[in-house]
Amino acid sequence: MRLKDKVVIVTGGASGIGEASARLFAQEGAKVVVADINMEKAEAIAEKIREDNQDSIAVHCDVSNESHVCSLIENTITTFKQLDILFNNAGIILPKRLEEIETAEWNRLFDVNIKSIYLTIKYAIPHLKQTQGNIINMASMTGVIGQRSNAAYSASKGAVIALTKAAAIDYAPFNVRVNAICPAGVKTPLLESWFETQHDPEKARLEQDLSHMLGRTASTEEIARAALFLASEEASFVTGVALPVEGGATLGYGAGIKPEWEYFN
Ligand code: NAD
Repeated sequence: MRLKDKVVIVTGGASGIGEASARLFAQEGAKVVVADINMEKAEAIAEKIREDNQDSIAVHCDVSNESHVCSLIENTITTFKQLDILFNNAGIILPKRLEEIETAEWNRLFDVNIKSIYLTIKYAIPHLKQTQGNIINMASMTGVIGQRSNAAYSASKGAVIALTKAAAIDYAPFNVRVNAICPAGVKTPLLESWFETQHDPEKARLEQDLSHMLGRTASTEEIARAALFLASEEASFVTGVALPVEGGATLGYGAGIKPEWEYFN
């Protein structure tokens, strides 16, 4: 029970990494606020957590909308009286080359992926100072090394990493830690939607697997466990890091190889 009685907000908690994290945090004793624009799914996840005898609520929140974010924090405090962990996980993709991107699409991406983190921290920080809590921001390895036809997304995730480091400096005097996670490929509806934008989705799936030295993408639970580590007291001396959880995707030359391939025989 590494998060016993902690109050956690997970944005984008209705799907993928956010869903797995909400469930894992609850298993570890946390009271979980599932914040998402998809209320049907968010409600279903909060309900499942309650069935397992942990407190949980679903809150409708578009993280790019200041009044939604303000209500999210107010709602959390009214319901659970405190806030210990803020997991800024919600994010969207924009798999296009720069010249193909409309200005409105660019703005939306940056509103959801990075302005949202400024907003949640702005409203949550007074409460996190009281509990000496911590913040986890969802970045990506694309924010470190870039990715083909993904410049806007990569730039937004690079900004998440920079914001994380600067915020870690600002809030360290209050013992509020701020960290980021950098996955590569993770099996989620978001990654699946990216495959579907590719010319040959099946080939893209294989290439994605093999771009990781471990020869596969991550499960959502593998990323949730990294979030749990950063959220917990086990990471009490860790702040300002952008933790790669990427199956060796950025190691050396060459790609991952499937063990059944001839290469090993
Ligand atoms: P996902 O699409 O499965 O889940 C994202 C959730 O965020 C959804 O429930 C969606 O409704 C919600 N959401 C979208 N826009 C929102 C908004 N404006 N306000 C509130 N909620 C909103 O995606 P995922 O793969 O689990 O991605 C989670 C995070 O992980 C994202 O920030 C993503 O960029 C990052 N990430 C994903 C991968 C990957 O390969 N899947 C890799 C690196 C980083």
